[in-house]
Amino acid sequence: MSDFAHASVAELGRLLDARQVSAVELAQLFLARIDAHRDLNAFLDVRPEVTLDLARAADARRARGETGALLGVPMAHKDIFVTREWASTASSRMLAGYMSPFDATVVANLKQAGMVCLGKLNCDEFAMGSSNENSAFGNVLNPWDKGAVPGGSSGGSSAAVAARIAPAATATDTGGSIREPAAFTGITGTKPTYGRPSRWGMIAFASSLDTAGLMTQSAEDCALLFNNMLGYDEKDSTSLDRPGEDFTRDLNIDVRDLKIGVPKEFFGDGLQPDVETAVREALREYERMGAQLVEISLPNAELGIPVYYVIAPAEASSNLSRFDGVRYGHRAAEYGDLIDMIKKSRAEGFGPEPKRRILVGAYVLSHGYYDAYFIQAMKVRRIIADEFQRAFAQCDVIMSPVTTSVAFGFGEKAADPVAMYLADLYTVPGSLAGIPSMSIPCGTGAKGRPVGLQLMTNYFEEAKMLGIAHAYQRATDWHRRVPAGF
Ligand code: GLN
Repeated sequence: MSDFAHASVAELGRLLDARQVSAVELAQLFLARIDAHRDLNAFLDVRPEVTLDLARAADARRARGETGALLGVPMAHKDIFVTREWASTASSRMLAGYMSPFDATVVANLKQAGMVCLGKLNCDEFAMGSSNENSAFGNVLNPWDKGAVPGGSSGGSSAAVAARIAPAATATDTGGSIREPAAFTGITGTKPTYGRPSRWGMIAFASSLDTAGLMTQSAEDCALLFNNMLGYDEKDSTSLDRPGEDFTRDLNIDVRDLKIGVPKEFFGDGLQPDVETAVREALREYERMGAQLVEISLPNAELGIPVYYVIAPAEASSNLSRFDGVRYGHRAAEYGDLIDMIKKSRAEGFGPEPKRRILVGAYVLSHGYYDAYFIQAMKVRRIIADEFQRAFAQCDVIMSPVTTSVAFGFGEKAADPVAMYLADLYTVPGSLAGIPSMSIPCGTGAKGRPVGLQLMTNYFEEAKMLGIAHAYQRATDWHRRVPAGF
């Protein structure tokens, strides 16, 4: 049984099909692993009885003759998605213990496909952060090195998949929160085109950027889950109405003559030599497979960080205004009048990072500053998106590092918000443009910590991007490596 702990989603589906294991046995196996590795602090809420009920239901569906690649396969959800059966907190004291009356659409879609949820995963408070150090419920440890951060904001998702205590996990990416933690933990992290996954039931941070995606062992697993997870949702006003597609269809794509755009601005100052070496070696691997490297330029991508840190806090300050102690969330125990109640509830409920973003957001949206900051940022966002369109006229896919360095240590950047914000230097441009992008493991750097390779394709080219990643994962085994002790 314990042999199955390292199996991919695709392999687990085949084992279930062949009746070599049951959904209940798999749920028990992973629940036991979660328990054995509690020190990682990856999970915030585990309810074995609920999980086992779902597993029994999946086994019953198979017994009735139903099949499906995901039917009975365990997985877990980032605690940004609301769930009926587990508390939904966004890792904030504001929502401690909150039980949602409904499931997020992404959760409902994967449940419908028969996936068995193992529980809810730790993250930065309201998905704001790059190291998971902003969670109200404690740090998550990086399974490769417990002195290193697992990345953020989806740090529980990345640690859980890297440690193989969950075969796959949902995550969310607003400015890099899937790709950066995936890079830091040596797994595959994928963000689809903005608008393809539903935002219904995703606790909102910055609505024009928030995108649900996945942490998996491989591009192939991601394709299998996307087949069930993505799709139009009338409950989300920015959901894109696109015909359904099979995201596995390009897994055997031929990468000969593929044009890989290498943006020179993503290899400049600040990129650490260990990361650069691993990324360049991955590019050489693609060349060996017959692909061609083309130098491209994204001259305004470096403005991504200042633009993002105007737009994301502006939207956050608006989204977080709903937490007023009246409708839901924390309410102060003692207060005077209504205003005092709201003030005290918000002061107690929010941690320092959401408070910082609310202040910045309110400032850039206020009369007199709106044109100077917010409107200006929106204009530069458009310029960055247009630059990607020009780049994709010259290449099929863009590749770059995901981060400037390997995972850093706890406390190294926590006191300096700007240093922390720079962790997303290479991921934010793709978020502002809304294009699909992913991180795949491509080597190790300082202290044996993992390095990620970023892939970006044009809108709606997820299947192609996953195929290009899969070609690399057929030729190399970085994605199969599991940290010692797991
Ligand atoms: N690290 C970035 C931030 O703090 C991105 C977070 C995210 O993608 N959710 O906003």
